[in-house]
Amino acid sequence: MLPSSSDVVIVGAGNAALCAALAAAESDVSVLVLERAPEAEAGGNSRFTAGAFRCVYEGVDDLKALMPDLTAEEIANTDFGTYTQEKFFDDMGRVTEYRTDPELCELLVTRSKDTMRWMQGKGIRFAPIYGRQAFKVDGKFKFWGGLTVEAWGGGPGLIQGLTTAARKDGITVAYEARAAALIADDDGIRGVRVRHRGKTVDVAAKCVVLAAGGFQANAEWRTRYLGPGWELAKVRGTRFNTGDGIRMALDIGAQPTGNWSGGHAVGWDRNAPEFGDLDVGDNFQKHSYPFSIMLNANGERFVDEGADFRNYTYAKYGRVILNQPSQFAWQIFDAKVLHLLRDEYRIKRVTKVRADTLEELVAKLEGVDAEKALATIKAFNAAVNIIAFNPNIKDGRATVGLPIPKSNWANKIDTPPFEAYAVTCGLTFTFGGLKIDGAARVLDTDGQVIPGLYAAGELVGGLFYFNYPGGTGLMAGSVFGKLAGTSAGQRAKQQP
Ligand SMILES: Cc1cc2nc3c(=O)[nH]c(=O)nc-3n(C[C@H](O)[C@H](O)[C@H](O)COP(=O)(O)OP(=O)(O)OC[C@H]3O[C@@H](n4cnc5c(N)ncnc54)[C@H](O)[C@@H]3O)c2cc1C
Repeated sequence: MLPSSSDVVIVGAGNAALCAALAAAESDVSVLVLERAPEAEAGGNSRFTAGAFRCVYEGVDDLKALMPDLTAEEIANTDFGTYTQEKFFDDMGRVTEYRTDPELCELLVTRSKDTMRWMQGKGIRFAPIYGRQAFKVDGKFKFWGGLTVEAWGGGPGLIQGLTTAARKDGITVAYEARAAALIADDDGIRGVRVRHRGKTVDVAAKCVVLAAGGFQANAEWRTRYLGPGWELAKVRGTRFNTGDGIRMALDIGAQPTGNWSGGHAVGWDRNAPEFGDLDVGDNFQKHSYPFSIMLNANGERFVDEGADFRNYTYAKYGRVILNQPSQFAWQIFDAKVLHLLRDEYRIKRVTKVRADTLEELVAKLEGVDAEKALATIKAFNAAVNIIAFNPNIKDGRATVGLPIPKSNWANKIDTPPFEAYAVTCGLTFTFGGLKIDGAARVLDTDGQVIPGLYAAGELVGGLFYFNYPGGTGLMAGSVFGKLAGTSAGQRAKQQP
C-alpha cells in the first residue's frame, strides 16, 4: 500500500532520484520514492553504468579523502594528475560547442567535489578506474581524459548503496509504482497520481521531484524528436525511461529546453537486444575504436576514429554509425593493439571475427563490400606516418593525405591475427528536457517557477548539446538530485 500523502514525493529510483531523496530527508520531512520498475529491474540507467563519475580534484590529496582505501603503493605507482574546475569547464564548453547552460554548468562543476564527499558520507564508496582510464607505461599507471573515479561495485553497487542509505534514513521506496500525472492547481503542486500494481491512487505531496529519466526507451518520441531512423537504434539501458516525467511536467505547463534532437549514443554490439540487459551491463559498448579503423557496408571509413580521447568522442559517434548504410560498422584491429582492448571486447555475447590475413578478414565482415574494404585498409596503411605510438596521450600519429584523416593513434593494420567487431548505434539517453533554475525548480513556459516542482537527472534539459564528456551523467544526477532534494525538503518543511 502506498501512503496517501508524503511531504516530498520523488519520481524514479535511479541515482538522481535517490540523491534527491537523501537530501530531502535531511530536512526531517517524510519522503516517498516511486519507482516504475519492479525491484529486480529498478535503478534505471544508473544501474547499467560502470559507475564512472567526472569530478573535480586538485591532486592526490582530494582523491585520498574520497577514497581512503587508496594504498601508498597505488599512490606511488600512479600519475593521477589533476582535474581542475577550469578543465571541467573547458571540457563542457568544448564538447557542447559552448551551448551548455552557464548556470547549470557552473553548478555541476563547482559542486562536483563536495557532492562526491556528501555521497561518501551517506555510505557510498569510490575507487580509481584503473582498468579503463589508465594505461601502464614504463611501470607506472597514468590517468587520462579527466575521468578517474568510479563507484564501488559499478552501477549496481551505487544503486544498492543509495537504496540502503535511503532505507536507513526512513525513506519509503515503492516499486511497480508508476507516476502517471501531477496533481496541481494555481498554487502549484498538490500531489501525484500513481498507477501502483494495477490500481490508480492519488498521493498528496507538498513537493515533487521528477527524476524519471529521458525518453530514449520510447521509439515513437525518438523518431519524433531525434529524427527518422532513430526508432532503429538500440537502447543501452532501462526500458522504463519513456519520457513520463517530462510529459507530466509539460502537461501542467513546464518549459521544454535543451537539445531535443540530440542524445548520447555510442557504438554498441550489432546483435545486442533492443534494451539493456542487466547481466551484461555496459559491456555491449565497444569503446576501443580509437585504436581501430571503422568500416561501413561500403567498405569505407566514415569518421576520424582518433579525433580525441575516447571520453570526448564516444557519445557522438553512435549517431554517426546510425547514419551509415544499414546502421552498422566494423571496428578493425591488428595484433599490435589487441592487448589494449577494453574488457568489454572479451565477453561471450560479442559479434566478432578473426583472421590471419586481411583478405580472409574482409571476406568475413558480414554485410560489407569486401573488395572495397581491402582497398580502404591498404590505402590507410599507406597513409600512416612515423610518429611514435602512445595510447596515454594524443600522440599526433596521424594519417597523411586521406580524405577522412585519423588524427591520433594511427597504426598500420598489418600484423596478424586481425580482429573485427560489429557495432550499431546504442542510445544512452536523450538531451532535451525540462527547464530548471539554480535551485532545481522547474520553470513554466513564462519562465516562472512552478511552486513545489523540482527536477534532476536525465530529464533536465540544457546541460548537454551534441556531445558529452564521459562520466558527467552520474555527476549531474548527483549534483542536481542533491540540490532538488534540498530545495524540496526545505520548502516542504515550511509549508503548513
Ligand atoms: C550502459 C550505460 C552506461 C553508462 N555509463 C555511465 C557512466 O559510467 N558514467 C556516467 O556518468 N553515466 C553513464 N551512463 C549515463 C547514466 O546512466 C545516466 O546519465 C544517469 O544514470 C541518469 O540518472 P537518472 O537518475 O537521471 O536516471 P535513471 O538512473 O535512468 O533513473 C530514472 C528512473 O526513473 C524510473 N521511472 C521512469 N518513469 C517513471 C514513472 N513514470 N514513475 C516512476 N518511476 C519512473 C525508471 O524506472 C528509473 O529507475 C551510462 C548509461 C548507460 C545506459
